[in-house]
Amino acid sequence: MPQEVGGALHPSFRIRQQFRESLRINRGIGKAEADARAIELLEGAGIPEPQAALKRYPHEFSGGQLQRIAIALALAPRPDLLVLDEPTTALDVTTQRIVVEALRKLATEEHVAVLFISHDIALLGEYADELVVMYAGEIVEHGPVASVLSRPRHPYTRALVDAVPSPGRTELPASIPGLPPGRVVEGECAFAPRCSYAAPRCVEEKPALRTVGVDHSARCCRVSELTLDAATELGESVARAPGDVILTARDVVVEYNAGNRSRVRAVDKVSLTLRKGNLTAVVGESGSGKSSLGHVIAGLQRPSSGSIEFDGAELPEDPMRRSKLQRRRIQLVFQSTSGSLNPRRSVGDHLHHVAGCFLEPARRQAAVEEVLESVQLSSHLLNRYPNELSGGQKQRVAIASAFLADPAVVVCDEITSGQDVSVQAAILETLARMQATHDTAVLLISHDLGVVRAIADDVYVMRGGSVVEQGRTDDLFASPQHDYTRNLMAAAPQALDAAGAFPSVAP
Ligand code: SF4
Repeated sequence: MPQEVGGALHPSFRIRQQFRESLRINRGIGKAEADARAIELLEGAGIPEPQAALKRYPHEFSGGQLQRIAIALALAPRPDLLVLDEPTTALDVTTQRIVVEALRKLATEEHVAVLFISHDIALLGEYADELVVMYAGEIVEHGPVASVLSRPRHPYTRALVDAVPSPGRTELPASIPGLPPGRVVEGECAFAPRCSYAAPRCVEEKPALRTVGVDHSARCCRVSELTLDAATELGESVARAPGDVILTARDVVVEYNAGNRSRVRAVDKVSLTLRKGNLTAVVGESGSGKSSLGHVIAGLQRPSSGSIEFDGAELPEDPMRRSKLQRRRIQLVFQSTSGSLNPRRSVGDHLHHVAGCFLEPARRQAAVEEVLESVQLSSHLLNRYPNELSGGQKQRVAIASAFLADPAVVVCDEITSGQDVSVQAAILETLARMQATHDTAVLLISHDLGVVRAIADDVYVMRGGSVVEQGRTDDLFASPQHDYTRNLMAAAPQALDAAGAFPSVAP
């Protein structure tokens, strides 16, 4: 099953045809038998009214339902092994849990071995039996999931575990310095340039995979000397006092045309306050209206009703009528950097273009150099194009261009979604540092409660377009009042304990 569910299901065939085709080709099964098998699997995957579902097209299902249908389709010809490539990356926590539960149930019933490729360590910690950790094209650690995560024996695994944000942790997760080599390295340990335990002999020979416990092995020549039980130092806790109010949204409503002259209400009378130097998070499942709200504040979308007061003045209802200063002072960082960075512009051209929109000519060069340094990107990246950067570097360029305008408010829309935990930790560190330096109000839209817990001062929980709960982050996580908030927290991967650590097992 590919990562993009669109690659697993044909958009112009009904679900029934897709099951029939797979079963005819793989098993030589006729239509009636194929339909019966499809209904059995769709039922097992928790798809409501499977009989009716067979007559529908992929676009008529939600993302989570499509993912479950794709799993059912992959299991239809009774394979021995199912390979899933990042199947839950784009899903919110609740949908993710439903999909993985469906996968586990179906795989158990069908006696299928599952190879689950993922960067979500907390999720794997909860569902996998065995864990294989790869770095630079090689296995660096392998063993039963509980023992690998609670007693990692390779420094890279230790660093990955420490980079996992958790609803139980109040500190920023620690990032791993440097970048992976992106190729197999011969004659030395590939992790050596980033390893805080590296010794001269690590670059003199390539470490072999050594047995370190029952069915547990690690590729590190210092494995017998190192004790990696204690977490490496975590980032700082980001508790901040409430700042002055810079932006207030009042009773914002966003409606979309849904065809047949009907309207869908995506945001329903939401009011929200952003404060200088504070980070406010909006959490909720896909479709909760959080991105629409962020787009209204950033000026990408006109609200159907409601008002926004920014720095003591009402913003025009039509975002196109915002003044140049207002546009400069409210910036947006998108989830997808492929949408926000022009592939034909080098990093330098991109940043100079942004500086050219907002800054005096005399200040531009210095401002570009300054902002690049503050997001910790080297100046030799100025000549690179987006396709020559890693995902984390691209997101840091996007953060740099937002802060280049010296904004008072930055809206960050799922900026770490789809990134692996170490890249995510580096992006969060950058955001926290930039925010502190510029005393900016940040609105973070996220479905990751671990990220929100680590970095936010205030949280708004949205569901079906409305805010169902709001409060200071510590209070809300310590004592969630609304059932929906409690459900969201329960749906977050639970492999990490209350202190944000993987529960330990006997050595
Ligand atoms: S071999 Fe050396 S550099 Fe490589 S992971 Fe082990 S301690 Fe670190």
